[in-house]
Amino acid sequence: MMHIIDFHTHQLDATDALISVSPQLFDPQHNRWYSVGYHPWQPLNKLTEKDFDLLAQCAAHPQVLAIGETGMDRLCENDLDIQAAVFVRHLRLASTVGKPVVVHNVRATQDILTERRKAGLTDVVLAIHGMRANANVARTLIDAGCYVSIGPRFNPESLLVTPLDRLLIETDDAPVSIDEVAARVASVLHLTPEEIKKTAAGNAQRLLIR
Ligand SMILES: [Zn+2]
Repeated sequence: MMHIIDFHTHQLDATDALISVSPQLFDPQHNRWYSVGYHPWQPLNKLTEKDFDLLAQCAAHPQVLAIGETGMDRLCENDLDIQAAVFVRHLRLASTVGKPVVVHNVRATQDILTERRKAGLTDVVLAIHGMRANANVARTLIDAGCYVSIGPRFNPESLLVTPLDRLLIETDDAPVSIDEVAARVASVLHLTPEEIKKTAAGNAQRLLIR
């Protein structure tokens, strides 16, 4: 039975987690769940059609529950047009296989939402991982139907404007347990860590299994 509390980690041996890997490293283990994609920090201009074929193969695998992490990052050196083109290819694939997308967003909220709209793929659900932006950005993303995944560091005001049914939690690559993340989120929302973990797991289930 699929059970995911930690919505985004790069730890290949993590349990109760959605493990984010590049297609080249995808090696599915028993009772583990994955998202597969090309991270915007990778040398995207070197990706070939073969690399995208491999991504498509991974995307269809039953243990791959989401596409990504992909996205756009205005602070990274990769050309923004190339980032956009690669991001849109992930969206198209997600639409084809009917899975949501784990999105890396650094100062690129409008870019991401515009690319999705221009591609005619507004039905593809985005989960914005490692959300640290301010409450206005959070509201924009929530209004666009996105889920918001909160890691060890976050803006409390953004958390406060996030509806409980859109909330996910994650460790990403931080040396922090998901229990600690749940405790930090819980203290802002005046809930218990157990309630946060239960809520996040329920949201992940609804988002990933449809
Ligand atoms: Zn990550």
